[in-house]
Amino acid sequence: MPDVSHQQLRIQRFFMSLVMYVLSAVPQALSLYNGISPAWVMLVWAIYAVLGNLAFYLAFRSRFNLRFRDPSLTLAQMLMAIALVLFTQVYAGQARGAYLVVLLIIMVFGCFKLHTRQLLALSLLTILAYGLTLPLIRAIEGARFNLAVEIILWCSFSTFLPFISILGGSISDLRKQLMASNAQLQTVLQQVTELATHDELTGAYNRRYLLEMLGHEKNRTDRGGGGFCVCLFDLDHFKQVNDRHGHPAGDTVLKTFAGTVQPLLRSTDFFARYGGEEFLLFLPQTSLDMAQHCIKRIQAALGSVDYAGLPAGFRITASIGVAQYYLQEDIAGLIARADKALYRAKQNGRDRLELAPLARPVPI
Ligand code: GH3
Ligand code: MG
Ligand code: MG
Repeated sequence: MPDVSHQQLRIQRFFMSLVMYVLSAVPQALSLYNGISPAWVMLVWAIYAVLGNLAFYLAFRSRFNLRFRDPSLTLAQMLMAIALVLFTQVYAGQARGAYLVVLLIIMVFGCFKLHTRQLLALSLLTILAYGLTLPLIRAIEGARFNLAVEIILWCSFSTFLPFISILGGSISDLRKQLMASNAQLQTVLQQVTELATHDELTGAYNRRYLLEMLGHEKNRTDRGGGGFCVCLFDLDHFKQVNDRHGHPAGDTVLKTFAGTVQPLLRSTDFFARYGGEEFLLFLPQTSLDMAQHCIKRIQAALGSVDYAGLPAGFRITASIGVAQYYLQEDIAGLIARADKALYRAKQNGRDRLELAPLARPVPI
């Protein structure tokens, strides 16, 4: 699967290197103006720079670069730039130093992607290639060629380029470490968010998160949003499940119950473990009628679900208290009304729902 996520960043870096090309046109133009390098060198430089960069730009735009192990094409871009600088410095005469500085900067670009060893190998290759151009420079400059000066230039270049490579490599390694720890942090953050908002056993939301969501919905409703309902579920005779089948079987029942309810809800509903074998279902934008329909669906599903590890035909039922929010009611009061209705459901024989009576106007 090609890594497209950083494509924008790659194109941005490509434009950064393009700025380098534009800036290096200045010494080129000055050399030409002062008659230091011949016009054809400037022409070759310009054609090579334009065509080469156009090829890279098209590779990025067409996503051809994604076929390569390093989709940033760092090494290829660096090699192209190094070759161009080495070519132009041959004809730069006494201005050669100005061109050689560019080679140092090209190495710095490498620290976005290359390792220290790769950068070092590239710098040694560059030093060697530069050394090989010296006889050519001598042939071109003839009597003007100053061997001592050229050797000093080459030696200082040969010292600093590997140094920059090591420095760049350390920066590159640091970046990679930073990226790895960022990714780790992201994973941990996801886990912490999951733990902070979900019940570990059932995977349903936890009570704290549900109360927070209820608070938001209350504020929205008080400002003129639609109404909502809460349904408090309590599994019937759950203690007997633990007593007869063991605590782990009880845990399976809780998990299976939550797993049965969750798929029957809309993505906007919130189903949370309220505590022990009690669950709270919060239905935003829902009337009492709609809430009853939703609960009937859940009861029907509970009638045919299988509980792993429990005897075939094992059934669990729930008693449910349903309350519809009325304007300005506090959330604790709303849940207390649902709890009272739940108590009535238990008293009236369990496996049933009871509606909390309305005392005040409900939102439209
Ligand atoms: P009722 O129909 O009146 O609600 O009876 P009940 O047995 O369901 O109610 P009771 O409050 O007497 O018992 C609830 C039981 O739920 C007691 C407790 O041990 C058990 N329980 C609470 N949390 C867990 C849990 O995480 N896992 C398991 N296995 N059992 C739990
Ligand atoms: Mg209970
Ligand atoms: Mg119970």
